[in-house]
Amino acid sequence: PRPPESSGQVRGALVVLAGPTAVGKGTVAAHIRAHHPEVLLSVSATTRKPRPGEVEAVNYYFVDDAEFDRMIEHSEFLEWATVHNASRYGTPKAPIIAALERGRSVLLEIDIQGARQVRQAFPEARLVFLLPPTWDELVRRLVGRGTEDAEERERRLATARVELAAQDEFDYRVVNSDVETAAQEVVHLMPAAHS
Ligand code: 5GP
Repeated sequence: PRPPESSGQVRGALVVLAGPTAVGKGTVAAHIRAHHPEVLLSVSATTRKPRPGEVEAVNYYFVDDAEFDRMIEHSEFLEWATVHNASRYGTPKAPIIAALERGRSVLLEIDIQGARQVRQAFPEARLVFLLPPTWDELVRRLVGRGTEDAEERERRLATARVELAAQDEFDYRVVNSDVETAAQEVVHLMPAAHS
């Protein structure tokens, strides 16, 4: 691909927001969706069941295992992973390619295995690791949102410990103490998205 200088085109940036469970990736992404409609917030497909209040095609495309298998077979994913040893999640490729070609920046809110796959497929992607202010705060947020039972919380915290060790692989680290500040830091990685 030609660099933007020679083509005269502004190309959007592909920014990946990853981080441990309950760190607030979804909240930061929602803040960006609300304040920066020019950024495409990628909608993943998942085999997980919807939580109360989640909306099809806004939060996720909720699909069954057969449909997820079909999407893998047809190479429809930029990346996909089994997360927390339970459900599968994947990023549909076509909308992202289309947006980047039009100069629109794209934000992916995915897990760390997925971020690694994006790095392979798309070396120019900017990888952001969202950090909790402290470990205790992460535990507090997970318990506070009340969407998982105790067993599932333990499983997610075990994953989070492993995931925190991966932060050095990322291009940027952003501490999520304040959602607005964290969102601003992410948006600043996108050309022309922060005016
Ligand atoms: P939740 O079930 O809480 O919505 O999401 C669980 C985890 O899956 C989160 O860490 C979230 O970032 C991750 N996730 C959501 N969509 C995708 C995706 O398309 N690909 C990957 N690899 N992870 C995803």
